[in-house]
Amino acid sequence: MERKSHDGPDATRPEPATSRLEMAETEVGSVFVSNYPPYSRWSEGDLTAFDAAVHAAPGADAPPLGMYLHIPFCRKRCRFCYFRVYTDKNADEVKTYCEALAREIDAYAALPITQDRPLRFVYFGGGTPSYIAAKHLAELVQRIQAAFPWDNVEEVTFECEPGTLTRPKLENIRELGITRLSLGVEHFNDHILQLNGRAHVSTEIDRVLPWIHEIGFEQFNLDLIAGMIGETWETWRDTVEKAIDADADSVTIYQLELPFNTRVSKEFMDGTLDVPLADWAQKRAWHQYAIERLGEAGYVISSAYTMVRGDCTFRYRDSLWRGADMLGTGVSSFGHISGVHAQNTANWTEYLEAIAADRLPVNRAKTTTPQDRLIREFILQMKTGAIEASYFDEKFGIDVLEYFADPLAELAGRGMLTLRAGGVDLTFAGLLQADSLLPAFYDVEHQNARYT
Ligand code: SF4
Repeated sequence: MERKSHDGPDATRPEPATSRLEMAETEVGSVFVSNYPPYSRWSEGDLTAFDAAVHAAPGADAPPLGMYLHIPFCRKRCRFCYFRVYTDKNADEVKTYCEALAREIDAYAALPITQDRPLRFVYFGGGTPSYIAAKHLAELVQRIQAAFPWDNVEEVTFECEPGTLTRPKLENIRELGITRLSLGVEHFNDHILQLNGRAHVSTEIDRVLPWIHEIGFEQFNLDLIAGMIGETWETWRDTVEKAIDADADSVTIYQLELPFNTRVSKEFMDGTLDVPLADWAQKRAWHQYAIERLGEAGYVISSAYTMVRGDCTFRYRDSLWRGADMLGTGVSSFGHISGVHAQNTANWTEYLEAIAADRLPVNRAKTTTPQDRLIREFILQMKTGAIEASYFDEKFGIDVLEYFADPLAELAGRGMLTLRAGGVDLTFAGLLQADSLLPAFYDVEHQNARYT
């Protein structure tokens, strides 16, 4: 699992009206913002707009096109997981799903909106894409490439869970054309991994790291989560050192989010949780430590969550944060086409039935206004830690420093950002809680909307 701009908490599991429940010392909730307007504003009513969008030819000024594929399988469900994943599907069911995914991609390839439009980025996310057997994965990639050649693809990301990898499987993944391997380590301490219900153990991480470097991917990203259940300063410092030793091109650090639909949130709410949970201030302190320590080791800040080395880029993220179109494929996926957001059904049976009936499995959508798109790009780019007003002036003809003058002044007053000629810079304190600042820029009608 890597936090992606396409996804949010599993939309089939309702959250209370506020997505964050404040408590004296510990909080259950989620502040991660991956899209705008909030998912709760998407509806069946806008499906006709999505249908019209995909049946229209792309305009001359159409943005870059990407594809996200959701692989919803995991060996075991983590205690804090809120994604649409299955841990009980057998090999035949996985094969059936991959076939359905390939048919969904074929369907998109036949639609007017994708004609003469090369794919620029591809993202295999989950769940656990590396859960799929090498043979089925190769068949799936062949089908995708037949529908959408990868000649112009600049980046193909593939998420992996350490315990699902063998050296031959990693070699196969490399040969398929994956350029960016993202390893969901999350933590190096076995006790923490076990407490959080992760499927892998540290020896599996240690085993795959040399293979990744020997096989050689254009980019290797390693994910960490600050504030997992049972975390202490000692375990976190050790994990950060091991992440540095892993010699990745980028290290992504999240603060543990606990939406209400996770196992651990339920245990916390009903008083049966037997371990303490870190509060947001503690998680921010650990996050800050990781950024500072990685900085000393030669990494630089690429976003609130990502530290990179050298010329490492992340095209998927940067494209989406600048308004790219993306085909969201697979159960529960989110996509965006010609100004219309869309989400596939999160129900396994409904997904397969729609594909069998030659229908796209989209079940809710949201037409965005130019103002929505301006706000969306503004808040997503805010996560990089800096806003350049000239970008928005050129694209939207709006001076964002004036347009957002009130929330910018308010956040500047709280020490979260500084204003400069031509832009905005988040302070370090602002960067560490970037997502919690973003609703201040929402249109008033969406400010208190439920997230999903
Ligand atoms: S690896 Fe864990 S957190 Fe990630 S999708 Fe699977 S069950 Fe959820």
